[in-house]
Amino acid sequence: MKNGVCIACGSNNVYQSVNSSWSRDGVTVMALGDKITETFATESYLCLDCRHLEILVAEQAAAIFGKGKSLTESIQASTNWKKVSG
Ligand SMILES: [Zn+2]
Repeated sequence: MKNGVCIACGSNNVYQSVNSSWSRDGVTVMALGDKITETFATESYLCLDCRHLEILVAEQAAAIFGKGKSLTESIQASTNWKKVSG
């Protein structure tokens, strides 16, 4: 998606959300814990032909929430994200 080609249908009718606020596109990922909630910004790509939406989550928590903690650490320690076992 990042290169402008949809991974689902092959179309090049792909748009990227480019809002300049810290949350970029208003879609955030939250890692809930006992004491603190870390919030991660995202980068989103949307195909207008098949409506596939790809969301990439930032590596580090946004500066104003969660003090720059890493995504891996925060998600693994959270109470709301569970590893999928298959
Ligand atoms: Zn598509």
